[in-house]
Amino acid sequence: MIATTPEQIKALRAAGKILAGVLKDVAALCKEGVTTAELDLSCEHMVRARGAVPAFLNYQPDGASYPFPASLCVALNDEVVHGIPNEKKILRKGDLLTLDAGLSYQGYFVDAARTLCIGECDQQAHKLISATKEALQAAIVVARAGARTGDIGAVVAGIARKYNLGVVKDLGGHGVGSSVHEKPFIANEGRRGEGERIVAGMVLAIEPMLAEGKGDIILDEDEWTYRMRDGKRAAHFEDTVLITESGAEILTA
Ligand code: MG
Repeated sequence: MIATTPEQIKALRAAGKILAGVLKDVAALCKEGVTTAELDLSCEHMVRARGAVPAFLNYQPDGASYPFPASLCVALNDEVVHGIPNEKKILRKGDLLTLDAGLSYQGYFVDAARTLCIGECDQQAHKLISATKEALQAAIVVARAGARTGDIGAVVAGIARKYNLGVVKDLGGHGVGSSVHEKPFIANEGRRGEGERIVAGMVLAIEPMLAEGKGDIILDEDEWTYRMRDGKRAAHFEDTVLITESGAEILTA
């Protein structure tokens, strides 16, 4: 969406604040032995208790054969996005876990994701996490009125190259605000000056995903979970931002 009124911006800021708090509080529950189903239930309760509505629960985009059955997406290790929480999917020490959630508040949608380690992770996992975080920060710096979506992809891919990591292919950021997924699509690889023009008021979910391997993905039999084809790990950081004339305001910080 393109937010134009102070009321819209106020509601979007409130939505972003709720989601940032929920992700922080769910992250605090992520310990060895906890099931991903428990994380999902906690997430849903927290979202509703704060006056918002889970946006992923029962979300069924065109082409999906059944609705997403949870409020929280969980991706473990070689999984990248849209992993379905499950009682049998239990957190283990050393796991790399991505929490991705969306919500609507007063009708306005925001989306964010964080990757974290369960207990102690190896050095490579720390490198993957810090590089992906850096890619998100760098992407947000170039996201401003007058920029192009390709500027974001170019910056993300540049950070991946710097750390000898891959960019997860085919997945990327998107417009958000009045629904879960809107135009424009924001690829995590691109060329400066190409792609759609970014304008003031745009609400964008910017979400770099970096991989230890080459970046090719496959879809699981559950028809939701995307994982790395080579079985190597991926990390994912996402924030919803509001584009202004001078830069981007992070709504889900
Ligand atoms: Mg997203």
